[in-house]
Amino acid sequence: MKYKVLYRKYRPDDFENIVGQDYIIKTLKNSIINNNISHAYLFSGPRGTGKTSTAKVFAKAINCANPENGSPCGKCEFCLNFKENPDIIELDAASNNGVDEIREIIENIKITPTNGKYKVYIIDEVHMLTQSAFNALLLTLEEPPAHAVFILATTNVENVPITILSRCQRFDFQKIKPSVIVERTKKICADEGIKIEDAALEEIAYLSEGGMRDALSLLDQLSKNKDLITLDLVESQFKTVSKKNIEDLINYVEKNDVNSCLDLINEFKNKAVDYKNLVKKIVDVASVRAKNIVVSNKIERLSISDYKKLILNLIDSLNKINVNVDSYTILEMILLEFFNSPSISRSIPADEAKIEPPKEPEEIQVVEEKNQATIKENAKATGTTEVTETLVNLRINNCFAKAQKNYLEQAKKEMEEVEMNVNIPGKIKSILLDSDVVTASPNNLIFKTNDDHTAPLANQMLKEIEQFLQEILNKNYKIIFLTSERWDKEKAEYIKNLKNKKAYEYIEEKEETVDKEEMVSDVFDLSKVEIV
Ligand SMILES: [Zn+2]
Repeated sequence: MKYKVLYRKYRPDDFENIVGQDYIIKTLKNSIINNNISHAYLFSGPRGTGKTSTAKVFAKAINCANPENGSPCGKCEFCLNFKENPDIIELDAASNNGVDEIREIIENIKITPTNGKYKVYIIDEVHMLTQSAFNALLLTLEEPPAHAVFILATTNVENVPITILSRCQRFDFQKIKPSVIVERTKKICADEGIKIEDAALEEIAYLSEGGMRDALSLLDQLSKNKDLITLDLVESQFKTVSKKNIEDLINYVEKNDVNSCLDLINEFKNKAVDYKNLVKKIVDVASVRAKNIVVSNKIERLSISDYKKLILNLIDSLNKINVNVDSYTILEMILLEFFNSPSISRSIPADEAKIEPPKEPEEIQVVEEKNQATIKENAKATGTTEVTETLVNLRINNCFAKAQKNYLEQAKKEMEEVEMNVNIPGKIKSILLDSDVVTASPNNLIFKTNDDHTAPLANQMLKEIEQFLQEILNKNYKIIFLTSERWDKEKAEYIKNLKNKKAYEYIEEKEETVDKEEMVSDVFDLSKVEIV
């Protein structure tokens, strides 16, 4: 007997065997029970999630002589001869995408069905139709004969014209949950006499990324093996690593055990583990750990921002795997950053942000002129380090001078908006994600960074970041980044001054202080700054 691949053999021919799309199946069955059939359906979603199978079962059910609870009976003449039924017309738009195929449909559509109640047109990958084919289809969808039902399936709904979408009842198929894939493949293995470990099934579910068809194809490739299919076999055949390996890897980072970490990376390298799969798994595990920190409120060696940084760096590294660099070296470098570092940040309580700035600044007397004079003096000074420090002091002073709580709230919302912006350059994004705005005035913002390394790096990029904020928010903020320690100091000073009713005087920041003086521009000219 000819071997039939598993996904064909186990293609569902009733609603009960379509898994992971419960809501859609329930809605479709109800429409059959209530005899409420639309003329056009759109099934969208990732590949292998059951769109075509559902379309076929639905086509069978709406024509069935005695549907049982919305499902095809499987016994009537129509159900039994479903596969040969000329009234079920399937078109794969990926290969037949022209206007001629659609014309043929239109010409025959008026002829009443030979057997059942409905003629059902299943158009797979409908987004592949040409524009003229879409136009022809649209004419039919506008005035379909009573006996015609269209089921359009697509993995790429954004490429389906809105004019078509608006005429369809739409169902979005979801990726199938790993647990559901495990359950289904386990049953199939039992039926087929395939011996397989549960852990191996779980790995297959992971690799299939929510597509049952892919899961069964992977199982097919393994099923030639007559012995027990183990997790090891799956890993070696598909060049993957288990979740336990990844848990170990992150544990080594948590425990500051650099040798074990490097050994494990070496092991991945020797097994030639697929880097993309590896990154995906680390990101999965890291994001679960980060969430656990929030939920359990426990302080771990790695903070949420560490995990955030790890995840962003890993995703960023995927862009580099085509460069002729050993991807495992990149992984090593990303992870090494978290070892022996005094700057590993802790989960930081948000109370820093809760400073009450003076509501009525005029109530407070002006701070001694002397201090202000020094700042002014320094603002004009040259000499790289002094100038940088001067600018930092000037901006802290100016932000405190006009700080108010409502500005802070506003600024926080603005930063959320900025962080969500899709055009945000990677470097700026990681800086902002690692920073919290802690004081705000109409023109100035002070950021505190979670990681001490971020502050100097960010201050080298002030102009670039300001320009970006300007583009997104249309606001000309002068900003400055402080380490946690520096911020604590400035905050204490500020509170002390408030208590003593010493006010901060706003000092106009001269553009030339930043732009024109040679030494200063050395610090702020981005083209000269190498970010490591
Ligand atoms: Zn039937």
